[in-house]
Amino acid sequence: MLFVGVILPLQLPKQLTYSVPPSLATRVEVGLRVSVPLGRSKTYTAIVVEKSDMAPTDGIEYRDIIDILDDAPIVNSLQLKLWQWLSEYYICSPGDIYRCAIPSGLKPDTLHEGYRPRTQPWLRLSAAVSGEMGLQQALTQLRRAPMQQKLLTNFIYMSTNDWKTYSSVSRQSLLAAQPGSTNALRALIDKGYLVEEMREVSRLEALDADYEDLSGEPSSSVPLLSEDQQRAYDKIYELWQEQDVVLLHGVTSSGKTEIYSRLIIDTISQGGQVLFLVPEIALTTQLMRRMRRVLGSGLGIYHSGFSDSERVEIYRKQLSAEPYKVIMGARSAMFLPFNNLRLVIVDEEHEQSYRQDSPAPRYHARNSAIMLAHLANAKTLLGSATPAVETYYNAQTGKYGLVTLDKRFGNVQLPDIEIVDIKDCRHRKMYEGSFMDPLTDAIRSNISQSGQTILFQNRRGYSHCLVCADCGSTPRCPNCDVSLTHHRHHGHEYLTCHYCGYSIPVPVRCPSCGSTRLSTSGIGTERIVDEAAKLFPGQRIARLDTDTTQRKNAHKQIVEQFADHSYDILVGTQMVSKGLDFKDVSLVAVLNADSLLTLPDFRATERAYQLLEQVSGRAGRRETQGKVIIQTYDPAQPVMQWVMRHDYRAFYDAAVAERSLLRYPPFVRMYQVVMRHANRQLLENAAQYARTLLASQLGDSVSDVIDPIVPKIQNLCYKNIIIRLPLNAGLKAVRASIISSLTQMTAQIQFHAVNYYVVVDP
Ligand code: ADP
Ligand code: ZN
Ligand code: ZN
Repeated sequence: MLFVGVILPLQLPKQLTYSVPPSLATRVEVGLRVSVPLGRSKTYTAIVVEKSDMAPTDGIEYRDIIDILDDAPIVNSLQLKLWQWLSEYYICSPGDIYRCAIPSGLKPDTLHEGYRPRTQPWLRLSAAVSGEMGLQQALTQLRRAPMQQKLLTNFIYMSTNDWKTYSSVSRQSLLAAQPGSTNALRALIDKGYLVEEMREVSRLEALDADYEDLSGEPSSSVPLLSEDQQRAYDKIYELWQEQDVVLLHGVTSSGKTEIYSRLIIDTISQGGQVLFLVPEIALTTQLMRRMRRVLGSGLGIYHSGFSDSERVEIYRKQLSAEPYKVIMGARSAMFLPFNNLRLVIVDEEHEQSYRQDSPAPRYHARNSAIMLAHLANAKTLLGSATPAVETYYNAQTGKYGLVTLDKRFGNVQLPDIEIVDIKDCRHRKMYEGSFMDPLTDAIRSNISQSGQTILFQNRRGYSHCLVCADCGSTPRCPNCDVSLTHHRHHGHEYLTCHYCGYSIPVPVRCPSCGSTRLSTSGIGTERIVDEAAKLFPGQRIARLDTDTTQRKNAHKQIVEQFADHSYDILVGTQMVSKGLDFKDVSLVAVLNADSLLTLPDFRATERAYQLLEQVSGRAGRRETQGKVIIQTYDPAQPVMQWVMRHDYRAFYDAAVAERSLLRYPPFVRMYQVVMRHANRQLLENAAQYARTLLASQLGDSVSDVIDPIVPKIQNLCYKNIIIRLPLNAGLKAVRASIISSLTQMTAQIQFHAVNYYVVVDP
């Protein structure tokens, strides 16, 4: 008798065992999908992850699988090993990983109806007119219908391959060639000159069309590496002899991307595959373009912003005999099948967006990709100008190799940073709204030299919130424990919750005391745009934040228009700090750096340093040195000094000293237990109960019950417990303690409905 272990797409703690009826025994294989019964009447699509002919010794009578749904495995052994590791390390259900890793269109319950190739109408000449004579006649017959005659002529131009044959032309492109000719086309079809038929087009081609000049074959011009780049490149290979993971620490614009390109080309020319992870694909259009230029159609792009059908198509291509050699994508790309993965590159490895917070599985894609490479016996390169403290620590302690590029490409100077004291300027009345005079002067002088300017403001919206001058209260979201953000759009003013989307018109009176003296507090990107428009009349200003980029391709459009100088000033949130390479940006300003440092999080300083350094990195990337102005209330704070001197080492040394003293990663292993329930008191009791259980097993490494920064979201209250353990604590035992404490908590009848999850390495 044959037995299989299967994973169901459900939040079950582990795999389930089923028996295989003799009729299916010869076909069952690991990686195939099967349908299985569960409970009294349900059937699920599960993935076989284990096969054995030894009966389990637990004496349970197992149920039979119902059917086998695939002809060939859709998940390979490398993927399964990764899944296994993820579910253990990140304390999450294998079913959650299954749901996240496999595009839902691939799931057989929707296989046939869910996946539909995209079709488009195409036109061809009817058999009657395709001969030379027929064509002449046809054109003559159409004398009296000039629109139709012209359209047919256009068609012939577009479809002529050589003298004799005429290929098909897509309806869309024909109509585009002669606008307003829809009726004429209809007539040509009705009269039997043209035949319309539906044709399948690959979604991948359609995707390529989104990046027009990106399709086709690589242009041969891969630039020669500079001497510094060559040295770094050689060093990377040298270190890979001994180590699996190498960190490339190169200042902004040092030419890391060209090094990646070379490594990628090396790898694929030896028949290997590459996974190239980038933080958020929407923010990396420029990088994608550069990669396409180098790799042509060998490059596959994958991210969660694609529709499910698009993801299915790429997934299938990776399973086929001709998979993409290079996959570039956001974190979810690491779940694709690879059959010969040789190299993993994680660009901007410090980026927060590598972390998946919700839904489950909650994992860190950089660390998981390192594990994937390890399981595949491949090499990993991490790249950043501002490495995560944990990563640099690993490079310092010899766990990773370290390669440094400390000069910009072409020896362009790192930007000159000027710190402007907001308090002092205000005191001396040298300011206008959010712009201190030194900044206004710098922008004016930049304008006079036709330079472009980027203005960074950490907050979107118009102002942060409304404050009542009489009672001091601010309107809050009824569903979440946060104040509402003030927006202004085409003359409408409204308040919106950034957590749940709740939105109301700006009230005339204070909701608590009825006063009409409501004023705004805190400044957002919308207001900066308004202020800049007044201060710098005639300048073309664009805004880049999550509000202006909701429309598909909007981000790409804004970035492209700024790049070709259709705008002079770009105002934005963190989005402007990421990976953009504009040649005419000579001035970058941070309007209020202090707002970056107020988060009660042990990574706040790290984030602030990284952000300031990355934003600064957008200035003066070609030829001339750029200028950066940072406005702050407290110029003496260390982070300003580090950024001013571009001194990553000073930042790192301070961060490590502090974390070692206060017991934070990389000096401890950290877990965050998150619990939620609608009833605050019940949740508090449950959290206290769980804390006692955890502490009884893990001692004083367990924190008190903590309120998170936003204690209520969408009518659910939240409580956290933090666990900090020595690095040598046994992972398996810790995991078991956490799971058993939490299951014991929910086993209490009154806490049954308390929902929880664990974030590992928060
Ligand atoms: P990073 O990724 O480190 O920020 P980039 O790879 O974007 O740096 O390089 C910065 C600029 O220098 C880019 O405009 C890039 O085209 C140019 N550049 C880098 N290396 C070379 C090279 N070897 N030859 C020509 N131009 C280069
Ligand atoms: Zn009031
Ligand atoms: Zn809300």
